[in-house]
Amino acid sequence: MKVHEYQAKEILRKRGIPVPRGMPCFSPDDAVRIANEIGGARWVVKAQIHAGGRGKGGGVKVVGSLGGVREAAEEMLGMMLVTHQTGPMGQQVNRLLVEEGVDISRELYVGLVIDRSSQRVVVMASSEGGTEIEEVAANSPEKIFKAFVDPSSGLSQDDALEMMKNLELEPDQAEEGARFLEQLFVAFWETDASLAEINPLVVTADNRVIALDAKFNFDENSLFRHPEIVAMRDTDEEDPAEIEASAVGLSYISLEGNIGCLVNGAGLAMATMDIIKLYGGEPANFLDVGGGATAEQVTEAFKIMLSNPELKAILVNIFGGIMRCDVVAEGLVQAAEVVKLKIPLVVRLEGTNVKRGREILERSGLDMITATTMADAAEKVVAATES
Ligand code: GDP
Ligand code: MN
Repeated sequence: MKVHEYQAKEILRKRGIPVPRGMPCFSPDDAVRIANEIGGARWVVKAQIHAGGRGKGGGVKVVGSLGGVREAAEEMLGMMLVTHQTGPMGQQVNRLLVEEGVDISRELYVGLVIDRSSQRVVVMASSEGGTEIEEVAANSPEKIFKAFVDPSSGLSQDDALEMMKNLELEPDQAEEGARFLEQLFVAFWETDASLAEINPLVVTADNRVIALDAKFNFDENSLFRHPEIVAMRDTDEEDPAEIEASAVGLSYISLEGNIGCLVNGAGLAMATMDIIKLYGGEPANFLDVGGGATAEQVTEAFKIMLSNPELKAILVNIFGGIMRCDVVAEGLVQAAEVVKLKIPLVVRLEGTNVKRGREILERSGLDMITATTMADAAEKVVAATES
């Protein structure tokens, strides 16, 4: 689960980790009021969307007057902000963060992420903050320093200092940076984060080390023990189809193609997407209806897939193990009646009670193309999108 920058900064602030003073808001009036409360002569108005690269797209403005705060807020609220992480349509800006302006002396990068292959948290640091870290990784990987943290001991003071010493900082700055990193690691660990990225971590003109930007993602499997993080969820930033699917207990991920996939089991769903691509098609979604899907869930799954205007055909690929093919067939017939399907439907059923399942489908008079093997199904569904 992702959160906004201002929420990530609240998590840091609560733990005494230095961040600029600031507050979120939804209107230009509130933006000005907040800037007034913060005081000073320079403010930053920042669009809050769940994507990075906002600066380049016009989503971060440093201004020198309250009028400038209002202007920036008016400009940003409601805009479709396009960054390298949003896709070409962009993401609508509904919230802003207004902060004190900070005098930057250096922009650094620190990031923490779970590395599944080593089963450790990787701590990364670079002197090349502020820019896209992906670019640094591609062009000058030697500028990114990494440490793999042993979960039984955590990130020690020495490890943190060692890390920051790579960044050519003054000794006192390195010490402050190390303290920052240590605290960030604890915040990451205690919140069950899957990613924490501070880009840039800045050294200010008056020699403080402070998080100018903050990004946190959390492991959804542990959200049950973090109600304060669940409360930060902003569903406006999430895919409506995915939210609807999760509400009815389906695992659904939107993709860019035009072939809807309804499959049971994550492995079979992945294999189905692979074979569609092998035959030259593009899946519109990943969908695992699970081992015990009901007719209602199958109907919901159809509705969610059909809410995508790009959809050209649907492939149902079910292996009846625990789930019986006759139950699936009943669900399909019901669903097709409810949604009044107007695009080709290819169905492949295998496994428990498959004969009865096929009989049910045939008897129903449902307009569909039946398939035998995975390859047959993929070939037929790709052909159906081309006709
Ligand atoms: P991102 O583009 O979405 O990653 O947004 P950031 O929060 O990282 O801001 C982008 C850039 O704006 C930073 O790298 C800074 O160069 C600049 N910026 C942000 N806040 C301030 C500030 O308080 N003072 C100054 N001078 N620049 C800032
Ligand atoms: Mn940033």
